[in-house]
Amino acid sequence: MVALIDPEMCINCGKCYMTCNDTGYQAITFDPETHLPKVLDDSCTGCTLCYSVCPIIECIRMVPRKDLYQPKRGIELGSDWHPRLPDVQLRRKQAEGTNALSCQDGHLTVE
Ligand code: SF4
Ligand code: SF4
Repeated sequence: MVALIDPEMCINCGKCYMTCNDTGYQAITFDPETHLPKVLDDSCTGCTLCYSVCPIIECIRMVPRKDLYQPKRGIELGSDWHPRLPDVQLRRKQAEGTNALSCQDGHLTVE
């Protein structure tokens, strides 16, 4: 999952930006002119902290991510590491027929 912010509902309080920065993900940018936050999908872990602190109900929603999340831990993850999707997302992608996916021993491969 990733966070999706509705700019029409946002009151520019900055809480989402502060909480994501403080927890170490830095997945939200804050426009210095419009004061609108924006989620960087590649960096968002789907932790839901921004969703939890936003004072406007449904301004932030958690939605399925389009691509596989690749953790950035600052260390090499090893040659045998592969991104994985929960079963429900794997089944949805297979139903959509978007990419050829295979899953062996819980490891997902995008072909
Ligand atoms: S879900 Fe977590 S990582 Fe993603 S934008 Fe919100 S606080 Fe940042
Ligand atoms: S916490 Fe909600 S209202 Fe506040 S800046 Fe973020 S998205 Fe906008």
